[in-house]
Amino acid sequence: MAAFLLFGPAFWSFAMSDDFQFPPVNPLTAGLAGRCPRCGQGKLFSGWLDTAPKCTHCGLDYSFIDSADGPAVFVIFIVGAIVVGAAFFVEFNYQPPYWLHLVLWIPLILILSIGMLRPLKGLMIAQQFAHKAQEGRLEGQGD
Ligand SMILES: [Zn+2]
Repeated sequence: MAAFLLFGPAFWSFAMSDDFQFPPVNPLTAGLAGRCPRCGQGKLFSGWLDTAPKCTHCGLDYSFIDSADGPAVFVIFIVGAIVVGAAFFVEFNYQPPYWLHLVLWIPLILILSIGMLRPLKGLMIAQQFAHKAQEGRLEGQGD
């Protein structure tokens, strides 16, 4: 009883949950590496961008995952800033022909976009898990 009063009900609801059985995982490193957000060991993805049904190490059910368009939006912002900045720099300093811009920037856009999508999706899923983010609900409705 003294421990309950000392730590409060929020701590004990955490202590009784499954999350307490696992050491804290840094959502940044676990997400970027494509690892399970709870144990940091199991694989998050079963394909390039497809998520696995559950963690192979701790059994966490991945049905909560709903990253939607979030990773793509961040990829658009980040890759757009990099490529537009680089294109302006090259144009203002060297004035190359337009075909050279196409040869430079189209492959760079493809490489950066495809390369960043998976780590950013993992990062968003890990942040979703860490912050217990979910769709908004009205009290007294739904499941
Ligand atoms: Zn796991």
